[in-house]
Amino acid sequence: MTVDQLKKKNFFMPDATRGAVRNLTTKQLEETGTEAIVTNTLHLLIHPGPDVVSELGGIKEMMGWKGLVLTDSGGFQVFSLIHSGKWRGKVHHDGATFQSPKEGNTYELTPESTIDIQMKIGSDVMVTLDDCRDSEITREEAEESVKRTIEWAKRGKEHFEKEYGGTAKTGKLLTCVVQGAKYLDLREKCANELVKIGFDGYNFGGYVVDKNGDLVLDEMKAVIENIPKDTIRYAMGVGKPEDIIAANKLGYNLFDTVLVTRNARHGTLYTSQGEIKVGNSSMALDKSPVDPSCGCECCTNYTRAYIHHMFKAGEATAQTLATIHNLTYYQTLIKKLNSSLIEEKY
Ligand SMILES: [Zn+2]
Repeated sequence: MTVDQLKKKNFFMPDATRGAVRNLTTKQLEETGTEAIVTNTLHLLIHPGPDVVSELGGIKEMMGWKGLVLTDSGGFQVFSLIHSGKWRGKVHHDGATFQSPKEGNTYELTPESTIDIQMKIGSDVMVTLDDCRDSEITREEAEESVKRTIEWAKRGKEHFEKEYGGTAKTGKLLTCVVQGAKYLDLREKCANELVKIGFDGYNFGGYVVDKNGDLVLDEMKAVIENIPKDTIRYAMGVGKPEDIIAANKLGYNLFDTVLVTRNARHGTLYTSQGEIKVGNSSMALDKSPVDPSCGCECCTNYTRAYIHHMFKAGEATAQTLATIHNLTYYQTLIKKLNSSLIEEKY
């Protein structure tokens, strides 16, 4: 599969935060139908460090992963950890300076350094640094965030081209993030300015759901209507199955959420008949598979009662099978979206 496919088809990327999707081997991950994953730049920066990843041949070589890898910029996590006071650090006009609480080391995240880190990690798709803020910000703050986001994206692209020869030389794609919070004209402006600079993809940044947990569809629309169709249109952090379908209808084609694997670890499983909680006592004698219409390893070999028992017994295999199932459910949904896309086309 080539990296350009990411501009054409729909993809769901599970989070391989530290270079592994929790509880799964790379082979099990492949068997869920997963073709692309997202890894976390901040976590890999702190441990084992980009130089170690690079020395070991890059993240794909380390994992034995043949699919595609997207790395985030690390900004979202660093900024929210600093803003919430959990980590010591400062956000400034050049990015962020921060300390990891465990080791106490000081790091600099700038528009240029995030590209260097992602290059060492060895992903296929990189993301430029953006100035992400809290969900409730004033117009003035949103204006500043948009201004910085555009400046940082430009610097990131220039650095990628000057230092590495850009896409032509590396074969890697560079995407940026569209900010602007709830101010639709700022969302539009940010998208338009970024399109002028030119990227392989435009990611919807900031908070994708409001206080009630509903998708911010008007903001998402303001962005998607101002970016080219033949690019990566990544709805970062989306989301629940129904939210993926809604965002896909608007035109977004790339999705990720921690929910799918986190829910699996807590025994919340997606099925064609809705969500089930496999730890509930009603499952104790249920001899049906988790989802009769699913062909995954969990559903073709085991009953709900057995998975229920293993969750109660604290067997790690329960989490593995639950993760295999939930991911397969998501990838099946994506396949359906891809086939309806083909039907529409022809
Ligand atoms: Zn299944």
